[in-house]
Formats: sequence, structure tokens, C-alpha cells
Amino acid sequence: MGKFQTLCTKCKKSPAIFFRKYSGEKLCKKCFLESVENRVKGTISRFKMFREEDRIAVGVSGGKDSVALLYILSKIEREFPKSELIAITIDEGIKGYREESLRIARKIAKDLDVEHVVFSFKDLFGYTLDSIFERSLKKEIRLAPCTYCGVLRRKALNLAAREVNASKLATAHNLDDEAQTILINFLRGDVERLARLEPIQSIVHPKFVPRVKPLMEVPENEVSLYVYLRELDFFSAPCPYARYALRGDIRDFLNKMEEKRPGTKFIVLNTHLKLLPFLKQALREKVSLQECIICGEPTPHKICKACELLQRIQN
Ligand code: SF4
Ligand code: ZN
Ligand code: ZN
Repeated sequence: MGKFQTLCTKCKKSPAIFFRKYSGEKLCKKCFLESVENRVKGTISRFKMFREEDRIAVGVSGGKDSVALLYILSKIEREFPKSELIAITIDEGIKGYREESLRIARKIAKDLDVEHVVFSFKDLFGYTLDSIFERSLKKEIRLAPCTYCGVLRRKALNLAAREVNASKLATAHNLDDEAQTILINFLRGDVERLARLEPIQSIVHPKFVPRVKPLMEVPENEVSLYVYLRELDFFSAPCPYARYALRGDIRDFLNKMEEKRPGTKFIVLNTHLKLLPFLKQALREKVSLQECIICGEPTPHKICKACELLQRIQN
């Protein structure tokens, strides 16, 4: 071994390839991969995300996070023969973008021998995201496409998970996504949304498939390194609508803070988790679910956000 090579601080045998700033660990390839998988296992057990007989729908867009999630869950799932995985892809209808990511989602599901189903905005709501955006421009509605996309995708995933008889819905939000969402809701002053931002959703409704986020304690750069080292194929082109999102500024800010003070993203997440019981207690009534008077789907409001947005482009 070369004189200047640093050894892995865990196994003390192999050369380190990754420096985890927030913990001070220097890890070799094998220890890094194991540590990410163990982190996910830890998150799952800490928040009691799954039961042994769960049928788990996994939202798979084909991006690195969802590819990593499906891969790791399928690995963990082998130890639990009574549980099942089913991959779900939502086709929002974004021309020149979704087609390729769909192909990758199909491929990873096939490689891992996981059943895969696709649901589209067009079939579920009557519009593609492209046509929604066109209509919103014509009507001069000042809403970013990501607002429509996010709201409709959440609803689509729940409909899809129910359709395939899933008892849980796993999404691939990583630590960065979670920390960003927490700050975005703070900046918007949306405390109700904050109260609903849980590792495993505790609100119960017969039409609502509880959502879990097994990657929420894995930083984005570690997800990237994980898929790279595992040589997994994923879709990386940016969505043509991404430039309209507020998230970019928050991402830059958090990355800068993390650089200066490693561990910042974990602090944001953990502070939120500490406040969560109080938020939920204080907003108990506002975060319970009723049925939307238009579509009958579960929502904290009289009319669900999806119906509200769709009405705006229709009227
Ligand atoms: Fe949807 Fe926005 Fe993501 Fe594009 S960037 S897929 S519009 S949420
Ligand atoms: Zn090692
Ligand atoms: Zn509705």
C-alpha cells in the first residue's frame, strides 16, 4: 500500500475513498456501502416504518435517490419473506424528459425482480403536466409547475399505492430534501405542513396509504456515491421546469452552511423531529383527514389541494 494512502477508520484494512466530514470517518468502499445500508436499516427500525407482512409500494422515478431506495429495500426485503415490494412510477407528462427516466425505472425494477406499474397524470387527472403549465400561462396563474407537479404527484402516488393494495408507500426523500422542505415551510410560515412532515405518517384514514421515507437520514452526496459505487444506472438530466423552483436557493444555502459547519442538515432535521410532537399536539385538528367534497380523496381541507389547483386551470 502506498505511503500516503489513508486507511479506512472502520476496518483499518482498506484504503479510504470517502471522508464523512460530519462524523470524521474515513471509509473504504465496502465500509461506505455497508454504512449507508445500515443507516437506512437504522432509520426503518428507529421509526418503525415497516411491519413484516407489509406490501410496500416504492415510488421510483428513475432518478438516483429512487434507484438507490429500490436497490437497498430489495436487499433488506430479502430477509423478510412475508413482505413484498412493488415499484410505482408516476408519469407526469413532461415531454422529452419522462420517457428516458421511465425506461430506467423499468430496467432497475426488472433487474431486481420487482413488479413495476406506471400511472400517468393524464389518466388520473385528465391532463399532462405540460398541458397544465400551458393552461396556467394562458390564465396568468402565477404558480410554479413544481407546485402542480408536487401536489398532483402526492395524490397520484396515494391513488396508485391504494390501487396496488400496498400497505405502505416508500418515497426516496433524502436528508437534503427533508432539510430543504423543513426550511421552505418555515420560510412560508406553513406550520400545518410542518406538522405533517413526519418520518412515517401517523395520520390515519382508510383511503390513505401511510408514507415512509427510509432515506431521510442519508445525505444526498452519499446517495450519489452509493449509486456510483454500486454501478446502478439512473436518470440525471434536470427537469425542464426545475428552474422555476424556490428549492434551488434553499439548497444552495444549506450546502454552504454544511460546508462551513458539517452536520447542519442533520441539525435541521433533528430539530424538526424534536419539535414535531408539540406541533402535532397543537395542530391536532388541522392535520386530521377528511374526504374532499369533489374527489372524495383524503385531505386536511374541505377541497383537496389537487382539486383546488385543477379547478384553477379549468375555470
Ligand atoms: Fe415536477 Fe418540478 Fe420535479 Fe420537474 S422539477 S419533476 S416539474 S417537481
Ligand atoms: Zn473499511
Ligand atoms: Zn379532491
